[in-house]
Amino acid sequence: KETKVAKAKAGASYDIALRNTENGVVTRFPPEPSGYLHIGHAKAALLNDYFAHEKYNGTLLLRFDDTNPSNEKQEFQDAIVEDLALMGIKPNKVSYTSDYFDELYDYCLEMIKTGHAYADDTDKETMAAQRMDGIPSQRRELSPEESLTRLEEMKKSTPEGLRWCIRAKISFDDKNKAMRDPVIYRCNPTPHHRTGAKWKIYPTYDFACPVVDSMEGVTHALRTIEYRDRNPQYLWMQDALKLRHVQVWDFARMNFIRTLLSKRKLTKLVESGVVWGWDDPRFPTIRGIRRRGMTIPALREFILKQGPSRAVTLFDWALIWATNKKYIDPVAPRHTAILNKDIVKATVSNAPAPYTEEKPRHAKNAAVGMKTVAFSPDVVLEQVDAKSFKQDEEITLMNWGNAFVRKITTDSATGNVTHLDLELNPQGDVKKTEKKVTWLATEGPELVPVELVDFDYLLTKDSLTEDDVLEDVLNYNTETRESAVADSNVAQFKEGDIMQFDRKGFYRVDRAYTPGSPAVFFNIPTGKAK
Ligand code: ATP
Ligand code: MG
Ligand code: MG
Repeated sequence: KETKVAKAKAGASYDIALRNTENGVVTRFPPEPSGYLHIGHAKAALLNDYFAHEKYNGTLLLRFDDTNPSNEKQEFQDAIVEDLALMGIKPNKVSYTSDYFDELYDYCLEMIKTGHAYADDTDKETMAAQRMDGIPSQRRELSPEESLTRLEEMKKSTPEGLRWCIRAKISFDDKNKAMRDPVIYRCNPTPHHRTGAKWKIYPTYDFACPVVDSMEGVTHALRTIEYRDRNPQYLWMQDALKLRHVQVWDFARMNFIRTLLSKRKLTKLVESGVVWGWDDPRFPTIRGIRRRGMTIPALREFILKQGPSRAVTLFDWALIWATNKKYIDPVAPRHTAILNKDIVKATVSNAPAPYTEEKPRHAKNAAVGMKTVAFSPDVVLEQVDAKSFKQDEEITLMNWGNAFVRKITTDSATGNVTHLDLELNPQGDVKKTEKKVTWLATEGPELVPVELVDFDYLLTKDSLTEDDVLEDVLNYNTETRESAVADSNVAQFKEGDIMQFDRKGFYRVDRAYTPGSPAVFFNIPTGKAK
């Protein structure tokens, strides 16, 4: 249902285009199956999909970049497929870098034989320091024969082999540090979730990506801007192997305040139990923001509207939630909830005997349907409202009419209102009252117990620096839960429904009502400060 809306809306064209598209467009989304997709990945996925399927009549490939068995799992792979479907993205073909391990290995041999790569056993720290300072490795001039012998050891992951890696022989002192002999193959004895124990060596992303992009017929490779320094290296690999060039199109990485967008860090929070799971409503995963009430058309609009900007931006969540509100406000049915905390009973004189009436669930959109509103002389109101009333003040009971406040009974110890006597004034003008309050009839259809849940950011700092320790910047108080009663219609909501409680805000049903346990509603931010 949601997918259709997404496509219909996105028929609008955005300010983004590719160059050299005369001979067709093939794009690819290359996630590593090492976690669930987050909103940053959504940007990459939606851009690739937009170019392939809407702007140009092209092809979208989904390629799992599964070259590091230590991080990757089938569970993540399945979740990525599901989440793309949820976003309305249908790849024309699914592949895996691991489909090409044989070819990649042959290309590695070729690189060594043609003098474009060498085996190296320089330890990690020294290698990093040498690359930083532009110093050649002592193994740089190793002969192809010698390098191939080392590769054989690597392939078997012998103790000797494990000490070695293969590096491209590009430059040891290029101004661009990405060109300083990057590693193209490394050992990893961990079994792979697809190829099992067949391989104990794996290509790096720097090597596999340009090779497989070229082999699979990709025409335009979309990469986040922080890879820009690696673009010459990407093209160098294709030249070294006489492979077809692929055009690189850079786009800005997306970041949000108080939000982690790194699978590694998100995994840490899942594993340490700080959140409920990958679909936690406080998480920036597709599942998380969806569970919080984000709609797919809003996500799509927000991302594609950013256009071709290459500035790395730190977004405020307010912007995307405001976009979301545009989509939910016209269709969210309106209902009433009264917080149980300090609930105030009131008697309405001059009111007819209990009765019900069918009323629209949305004042401006008849298509949203009807609800049953109950009226009775016995009603409940909220303490904050009751406390604000003055003797004989005329107020409005929303969706009913005006009433005079005839008697306010308070508890002298707490100052709380314990009972109100109201007198209905059918002639009163609802436009003239200052206070319009929500209320519920306590006679008639049974009220529904609900929990209203709101969330705060997981981080206490807008953006983190390298020195920040995750544990120190975590917000450990991120959930507020209040119990309330709601009008009888609320019993019919299903998980995933989006609605509004008058004067409280928009909510998404996280758990439907079942007799004996309250329905659970998550507050949907609208971009406004509370
Ligand atoms: P993470 O650090 O979260 O694991 P990644 O870049 O390592 O991110 P991949 O699965 O390798 O994750 O990335 C898939 C695609 O998503 C890549 O094209 C990558 O550039 C893009 N991507 C990842 N994070 C962001 C982001 N914050 N904004 C835009 N694109 C992103
Ligand atoms: Mg990655
Ligand atoms: Mg990363």
